[in-house]
Amino acid sequence: MQLKKDSSGRYLCTFIPGDGVGPECMESAKRIIEAAGVKIAFEVFDAGESVFKKGIPSGVPQETIDSVNRTRLVFKGPLGTPIGYGEKSANVTLRKLFETYANIRPVRELPGVKTPYSGRKLDLVVVRENVEDLYAGIEHMQTPGVAQCLKLISAKGSEKIARLAYEFARSEGRKSVACATKSNIMKMTEGTLKRTCERVGKEYKDIDSWHVIIDNCAHQLVKKPEQFDVIVTTNMNGDIISDLTSALIGGLGFAPSANLGNEVAIFEAVHGSAPKYAGKNCINPTAVIMSGVLMLRHIGELEAAKKIENAVLVTLENAAREGRGTGDVIGYDNPKVYSTSAYTDAIIANLGKKSENFFARDYKPLVMPVVDRNPEFVKAKSLRTIGADIFVHSTLMPGDLGPSVERLLEGSPLKLKMISNRGTKVYPPTGAITDNVDQYRCRCMLRTGAEKGGNAELADRDLLTAIEKIGAKHRWVHIEKLQEIDGEPGFTKAQGED
Ligand code: NAP
Repeated sequence: MQLKKDSSGRYLCTFIPGDGVGPECMESAKRIIEAAGVKIAFEVFDAGESVFKKGIPSGVPQETIDSVNRTRLVFKGPLGTPIGYGEKSANVTLRKLFETYANIRPVRELPGVKTPYSGRKLDLVVVRENVEDLYAGIEHMQTPGVAQCLKLISAKGSEKIARLAYEFARSEGRKSVACATKSNIMKMTEGTLKRTCERVGKEYKDIDSWHVIIDNCAHQLVKKPEQFDVIVTTNMNGDIISDLTSALIGGLGFAPSANLGNEVAIFEAVHGSAPKYAGKNCINPTAVIMSGVLMLRHIGELEAAKKIENAVLVTLENAAREGRGTGDVIGYDNPKVYSTSAYTDAIIANLGKKSENFFARDYKPLVMPVVDRNPEFVKAKSLRTIGADIFVHSTLMPGDLGPSVERLLEGSPLKLKMISNRGTKVYPPTGAITDNVDQYRCRCMLRTGAEKGGNAELADRDLLTAIEKIGAKHRWVHIEKLQEIDGEPGFTKAQGED
């Protein structure tokens, strides 16, 4: 990432105050960064609710995009996604527009922030893939009764996030990287990240690599979170477990994050706009302040970052001694509660002091991994189509639909191998008791030569004829080619399929 500076040598940074509590938290962080002596020229631009209200459906206006293109560095408050207008989250749009493929969410035990885990020295980072997976947001109503969301996991995306997780671990002097996936069920999508981490991990001999199934990861995070150091995972898993890890250390008020890409980096709290606290000068700004600390580290301002982190630790330590704290820690109606601005003043007053008991880590600059940008990231030696899954909208029962499709395919190079309903084979009957819905997958394979090592190939015209024939009686809604890639099936079997 190329940092940009103005003519007086100040870093350029797009500053988005955000919605709800955003402006208060951002003002707090800005004051602290400036008091720490960092020279940043903040360019203030909008995104989120006010922009949706102007009728810009993305929630991100062109002038904000232009600023990010100029600065390559974004410090932002939370953006609300109002229900009723604005279709997509402006946050997700910003992350995706600038390919910030890694979302880094560190949490650590903090002084005076009492949790059931206090004293266990939690200090871990979730590295979440940020642009792929179900969050690509490719959704369709395939039938009136069945919605589909495509889960896309690429080999290139997995390579980037895996390498970044290891580089991040190194930059923080961390000892282990756990890859958390649901590869036992989703062998192709989630399995891609698992296999990539296993391969990439071998290059990082100074770091322990291990795999944990994501549901067990959630269980282990509640039971024994101190066993984790860095967790790398896919987008949705990461979204969920990083909210869990935030709760382990005192809640969203303390959870910062960084969205990193090759071109642009975006720093923001994990939390949202918390509208009920907006404008009351009572919100905890620590998550945003610590996101600013992550930003300073990223731009190489390691000393200033450490200075602010230490000041936060000292402020929390003093607050705990004095029975003070932000509202989320000691209660909003506690007479000793810190307002957002008073808490900010206290941190500024503590700049230059060091905590006795809670240490700020030593960081090395993060080396962003270099991964080939060529779309053809995986070069297959051989590819052949051996069949197709034809999805149909039908209200028939499987015992009626199956024979009908078989008859329609008579004389075609394709034959019906099986029909599944939501992934479970229902035809030919297996004895399974399924409650069918109105979308069926008809798995059609070449009659001859489809077997592994065979050399037949399904021609498009034969597939189109088959679709036409099936479509004459049953409304087809979606087609997926069944391919063999380098001699291996590029598709999974249905539950119950031989
Ligand atoms: P939220 O804004 O994160 O707030 C949920 C709750 O978390 C709050 O009511 C509060 O809990 C606690 N909380 C959040 N920030 C806090 C802070 N700084 N200090 C102390 N406590 C804090 O989540 P939401 O209500 O689900 O979402 C509100 C809006 O924000 C939505 O439009 C959503 O789309 C958006 N959002 C934006 C981002 C982002 O910009 N990155 C992220 C998430 C959500 P208590 O009620 O228990 O006090």
